[in-house]
Amino acid sequence: MNLEFDQQHIWHPYTSSTNPLPCYPVISAEGVSIKLEGGHQLIDGMASWWSAIHGYNHPELNDAAKAQIDKMSHVMFGGLTHEPAIELSKNLLDMCPVGLERVFLADSGSVSVEVAMKMAMQYWACQGNHKKHRFITPRNGYHGDTFAAMSVCDPINGMHSLFKESLPQQLFAPAPQTRFDQHWNEDEIDSLHQMIKDNHHELAALILEPIVQGAGGMRIYHPEYLKACRRLCDEYGLLLICDEIATGFGRTGKLFACEHADISPDIMCLGKGLTGGYMTLAATLCSEDVAIGVCQGEPGVFMHGPTYMGNPLACAVANASLSIIQTGQWQQQVSAIEKQLKEELLPLKSLESVADTRVLGSIGVVETKQDVDVATIQKHFVSRGVWIRPFGKLVYIMPPYIISPDELSQLVSAIKTALS
Ligand SMILES: *Cc1c(COP(=O)(O)O)cnc(C)c1O
Repeated sequence: MNLEFDQQHIWHPYTSSTNPLPCYPVISAEGVSIKLEGGHQLIDGMASWWSAIHGYNHPELNDAAKAQIDKMSHVMFGGLTHEPAIELSKNLLDMCPVGLERVFLADSGSVSVEVAMKMAMQYWACQGNHKKHRFITPRNGYHGDTFAAMSVCDPINGMHSLFKESLPQQLFAPAPQTRFDQHWNEDEIDSLHQMIKDNHHELAALILEPIVQGAGGMRIYHPEYLKACRRLCDEYGLLLICDEIATGFGRTGKLFACEHADISPDIMCLGKGLTGGYMTLAATLCSEDVAIGVCQGEPGVFMHGPTYMGNPLACAVANASLSIIQTGQWQQQVSAIEKQLKEELLPLKSLESVADTRVLGSIGVVETKQDVDVATIQKHFVSRGVWIRPFGKLVYIMPPYIISPDELSQLVSAIKTALS
């Protein structure tokens, strides 16, 4: 592979274009294994950023893609519709929290967040309430890289200072503090409550990642916090947007993380694992009330429509992925991973270099005291035959659900040797 060309001309995520971190050349992937040029195999700890939940090169997903591509890859969604999109939307509404009734198919997670925020603003504007156009969100969130999504990412690690002049100014509440399994402290919600109380007349919605804050810090918080968010939104007239892009489809041990708190949002974003990691597709689901609100008065329509909206190929693969989810096997797989991570990864807390460890579902997080050197630690991982991509102080794994106990042990032991 021409790695020199890659280095000189291709942007990779979150690295310098002129002095990039090294990249490893992949030729194929199968199950939980990524094969590099030359034949070296890596056990995948990242599921390609939360997506490849059933593993790579899955026969059922492959068949779905092949069958669909022989019918049509894509047709425009304006004025046309098709079975893959109808089936997918039906599937999603059957499995998602109650109260969500309408599906907007988007082409990436960030776009589904843009759509969710736009829906919330248009919902109030169409009722003549143009003042309710801002958002409140806890710190340490991550919602994507486009502008509206970026405006609700953590203001510090989301690098707001770079784009200060063009980012909408949102309200940031303190991040949730009580951990998932600690004793809930009701006072924790006071400052969020006060901020909503003082600003609700200009707030369209509260947006957050339910239970697990992903790329903004890999923090796992108490379900009572999410319950309180639902209550405050009802009390003060805010919509609740839950971004389940990372947490959806079983990752946290529930089908959707909202279920830990037994709440339904008004708007929900899905992405990442939706196609089992095959291609980009996302969805924004909303309640009947939101759909009616958005479409009343002028202009009477929702002003958004991506070119590749409802892409049949992506929908067909998503349907195959959801069929696998519907067998329910993920429940045993994710709870077995959780149990093993609790036994093997949590004890890494005793290492000198480690500040904290935490586990929920098939997510394992090791927080170090100092930032890790990505190039060095990556090299160590690759030499140990595992694929783990840390950032900052976070060395974390969320493997495909099909990972075997032995493979999972190899991931944890590679982290242990890297940090010892
Ligand atoms: C990854 C992610 C996004 C952005 O999705 P993209 O498909 O990368 O645009 C948004 N929200 C959360 C919680 C995510 O994890």
